[in-house]
Amino acid sequence: MTPSFPRAEVVIDLDAVRHNVALLTERASGAALMTVVKADAYGHGALPVARAALEAGATWLGACSLDEALELRRAGITARLFSWLDMPDVDFAPGIEADVDLAASSIGELRRIADAARRVGARARVHLKIDTGLSRNGCPPPLWAELVEAAAAEPLIEVVGVWSHLACADEPGHASVDLQAKRFDEAYEAARAAGLDPMRHLANSAALLTRPDLHFDLVRPGIATYGLNPVPTGEDLRPAMTFRSSVVLTKRVPAGESVSYGHSWTADRDTTLALVPCGYADGVPRVLSGRLDVWLGGRRRPVAGRVCMDQLVVDCGDTEPELGAEVVLFGAGAGGAPTAREWADKLGTIDYEVVTSMYRPRVRRRYL
Ligand code: PLP
Repeated sequence: MTPSFPRAEVVIDLDAVRHNVALLTERASGAALMTVVKADAYGHGALPVARAALEAGATWLGACSLDEALELRRAGITARLFSWLDMPDVDFAPGIEADVDLAASSIGELRRIADAARRVGARARVHLKIDTGLSRNGCPPPLWAELVEAAAAEPLIEVVGVWSHLACADEPGHASVDLQAKRFDEAYEAARAAGLDPMRHLANSAALLTRPDLHFDLVRPGIATYGLNPVPTGEDLRPAMTFRSSVVLTKRVPAGESVSYGHSWTADRDTTLALVPCGYADGVPRVLSGRLDVWLGGRRRPVAGRVCMDQLVVDCGDTEPELGAEVVLFGAGAGGAPTAREWADKLGTIDYEVVTSMYRPRVRRRYL
């Protein structure tokens, strides 16, 4: 039986996803919108997010690996799917059969896609990736002409796109963005000169929101879909994920009583403690012990002492919460409640990592 009070639960607001996708579609100045749902939709659940995004205006979905894309296809998603990073021994044949758009960064990759297309007996749709300066995958500019010519000469490859990814789009005005855009332009012109007529795509969330000149034919927002804005544009993006638990026990302790392993926290007054059955095994970083607040009873309350594997303790002062009272670890931040961004700032990371790491077997997922 599913308990009515969550022990540890991630609630995903699909209306927020739909709202964000509609807003991003509007900002895309006519470019098609690919919702990036890699890594299980940044921890939000690839399939429910994919469906919500398609309802709200997305026409493409972006996955990292072919496996991720095929999972969506098998679940009945018929929209354009694009996957871009696979192992050297991957078999592209199931992707071609399932009508997934593939990426090639090198002649070797192109040949492996062409071999798979030959086996399947169908043309593969391929987007050639130019490395314009991120120095991850993508073809380095000196090898680009060779890649483009090989692709143009291969009858089983249909080059449908030229694409790249930006390194510093979340720092508006960073000189690398213009440099990458210039290299991207040169790569596109070289593809045209080789007789290809590909679409272009370059913009992630940050570039979509700040650089309309880089929207081209297709934009690829990820994080903004989930309501987390990588740039301070003031857009009405709504965080879709809330991480919550419940109070399972309360107790009154006298001043001087210490809490949790290591006794790193001692009550400086008589106080009420609330036990929350959620710990680092559920995604509450132990390193935040002593720096973590939760939202409980309509206000912020500090976590007392160390976060344990399965539980943490909240200092409630003279208020006694009811058993089962909701405890929000992070969420949309209404009223000043903690957010994923706040966790990220404290952890010295980005909110991408906070939400993506919430896909855990012990954490129940629920959709609104
Ligand atoms: N395109 C590619 C190739 C990516 O790897 C990512 C994510 O890192 C995105 C688009 C989406 O980026 P963001 O989540 O910053 O919008």
